[in-house]
Amino acid sequence: MIQNEMISVEAITFNYPNGQTLFEDFSWKVEEGEAWVILGPSGCGKSTLLYLLAGLLSPVSGQIRIEGEKLNRPRPQTGLILQDYGLLPWATVRQNAELGLQIRGFYGPDGTHSPRQPVPKRDVTPWLDRLGISEIANQYPTHISGGQRQRTAIARTLVLNPDLLLMDEPFSSLDAPTREGLQNLTLELQLEQKLTLVVVTHSIEEAAFLGKNILLLGKPVHRQATIIQNSHPIGAEYRKSPAYHALCDDLRANLEGVSSE
Ligand code: ADP
Repeated sequence: MIQNEMISVEAITFNYPNGQTLFEDFSWKVEEGEAWVILGPSGCGKSTLLYLLAGLLSPVSGQIRIEGEKLNRPRPQTGLILQDYGLLPWATVRQNAELGLQIRGFYGPDGTHSPRQPVPKRDVTPWLDRLGISEIANQYPTHISGGQRQRTAIARTLVLNPDLLLMDEPFSSLDAPTREGLQNLTLELQLEQKLTLVVVTHSIEEAAFLGKNILLLGKPVHRQATIIQNSHPIGAEYRKSPAYHALCDDLRANLEGVSSE
């Protein structure tokens, strides 16, 4: 299979105003359809890198290209899922899942103006079914579990048919069985929808399960991409395998290495 480049981070430097430099002359590439995890300790700059990829922050110098195009602002085909779900408390599960579609109907697929032609209406029902939340479609976010809230947020994003899905610590506030169920589902959806996936986590176990490719970030300043590849076939069984545990140990050792530089 010929792969095309999805993300190209080209010699970026970034610091927040009055903050320390987090990235300096930093480059990294992601091919279309790959599953990546950005792993590192709290405060190392993982979310910052994700927001740079989302076009919510801009590098001080260097550039980021997505599908060859220089990123200047958030890109409509990029989906972003955050830890706290971002659901509207006064809207039902179904209405929340439809929110992105409504906004797209208003602004148009390129996000810059009201569309001249009406945007074809897409139905959110198949996504509610696929994510197992159709039975709670008329409930409000305060009446459903954390896992169901995250499923709603995923439905809202996937109904927009993104090609790139960015997730920031999406499962960290969930209990272990719910978290594992959603990790399995995320990998299934990534393959099914041919998504390029980038997940930020500080959890070694999550990185070892979700990442075919893992970008390790230690203490800033980040000047070079440290990458670990996971060639094992990943599925629910993989979690119990010696290969999974060996990778966790390897990541732990590597993380200690990059953190103490
Ligand atoms: P991580 O996601 O790895 O926990 P972040 O990317 O959130 O790390 O933060 C990296 C560093 O940048 C931290 O030291 C954090 O305090 C700082 N930081 C994050 N957001 C801002 C901001 N808006 N303004 C200034 N500093 C920030």
